[in-house]
Amino acid sequence: MIEIKNIHKAFGSNIVLDGIDASFEPGKVSLIIGGSGSGKSTLLKCIVGLHQPEQGKVFFNQQEFTRMGFEERVPIRKEIGMLFQNSALFDSMTVQQNIVFTLDMFTEMSKSEKIERANFCLERVNLAGKNDLYPSELSGGMKKRVGIARAISMNPKYLFCDEPNSGLDPATSILIDELIQELTEEYNCTTVVVTHDMNSVMGIGDYILFLYQGKKYWEGSNQDMLQSDNEQLNDFVFASPLMQAARDTLKT
Ligand code: ADP
Ligand code: MG
Repeated sequence: MIEIKNIHKAFGSNIVLDGIDASFEPGKVSLIIGGSGSGKSTLLKCIVGLHQPEQGKVFFNQQEFTRMGFEERVPIRKEIGMLFQNSALFDSMTVQQNIVFTLDMFTEMSKSEKIERANFCLERVNLAGKNDLYPSELSGGMKKRVGIARAISMNPKYLFCDEPNSGLDPATSILIDELIQELTEEYNCTTVVVTHDMNSVMGIGDYILFLYQGKKYWEGSNQDMLQSDNEQLNDFVFASPLMQAARDTLKT
């Protein structure tokens, strides 16, 4: 369980997050949605400690992360898996090396244990045998899956994904969403996904937090969302023809 309380973050005079509260439950995929520049990535970075919020608290299983120093944070860091927006693979490393790199950093495993773990994770994301390929030899969807394999290599309790579907075709996007959902249930992860993809919202949105002008404007499930009368949320959601169709189906 992750809880955030009253998170404030500004860059100079640009107030990006203006008092955000939320809680994210284990075994569930929670989504942060909002327009481009609404602060989704910034919020994710505040939660994992890549940004220091000016105000507010972040708790990982009741432990106050925001109050901890660097050393104190290490055990929680080890429990965090992160999939970055552009997959953030090291181009000069093979698929296997990309995963082993994380294990080198955080574990005392032997070389063969690390390779075994890498193989296990690659198998889990359907990339068995792709160990020796370089990122430049992979499709966008495969890169994301390597990013996911790396993110789960440490058996994370908390999984964060920033725009896991960006740049992917719709069919591949759905596969990635399903994979994230399955892993979340399998490991009972507390998973937080940043997205502006309405397909994802309808597919995996049990809990959705909508950011608008630095505030949490709305929260609820995707089913609630279809019937919400929140104007800003509706402007965002029903800009998509797919979502208009979903709403119309509901009305008839
Ligand atoms: P989103 O992920 O919702 O598209 P971001 O969180 O990336 O939005 O950005 C929110 C706002 O914060 C934008 O106005 C952006 O320009 C600003 N911002 C984000 N990161 C930085 C940074 N490191 N330095 C200065 N401004 C930033
Ligand atoms: Mg972003």
